[in-house]
Amino acid sequence: MTSASKQQGIPLKIGSGYRTYEHQKKLHEDFNAKAKAVADSAHAEVKAWEDGGEKGPKPNEAKIIKEKMKNIIYAMPPGTSKHEGGFAMDVNWRSLNKKDQVALKKIMDEQGWKQGTGSEIHHFELDPTKFGYNNKLEAIKENKASFEKFNKEWGKVPHNNNE
Ligand SMILES: [Zn+2]
Repeated sequence: MTSASKQQGIPLKIGSGYRTYEHQKKLHEDFNAKAKAVADSAHAEVKAWEDGGEKGPKPNEAKIIKEKMKNIIYAMPPGTSKHEGGFAMDVNWRSLNKKDQVALKKIMDEQGWKQGTGSEIHHFELDPTKFGYNNKLEAIKENKASFEKFNKEWGKVPHNNNE
């Protein structure tokens, strides 16, 4: 429904929609690698202080990790993300102005997409039980079938083609 998007003028972009198991696995591994790098560097900071190389108060390792992790997007383990079931998508929420956010939220509400909160504010998802699945994991297992469903549902949401 690109035309509807243009009518409403929402400059919407999908960052991530349907993902294969392999893609989710890669994202999860990337997340783990980044999280490990953060933990290692925080540990190194504390160690440098303990070794007397740094001045000032002792750095708080947990606090450093928490601060640095704010910039890292979490990715669920493969086999557990609604993105794999074709029931989730990430959009450029933060780059939309307030008016477009309100308009998009209204459309998404009407289509049954539930918005994430906090650091997941860009994430929208559908409830697989409304599509004949007993639960999320069942929907993920049949991800090929639900990819078609996703395209169909996603097609109802005004957006710029696969940007
Ligand atoms: Zn997401």
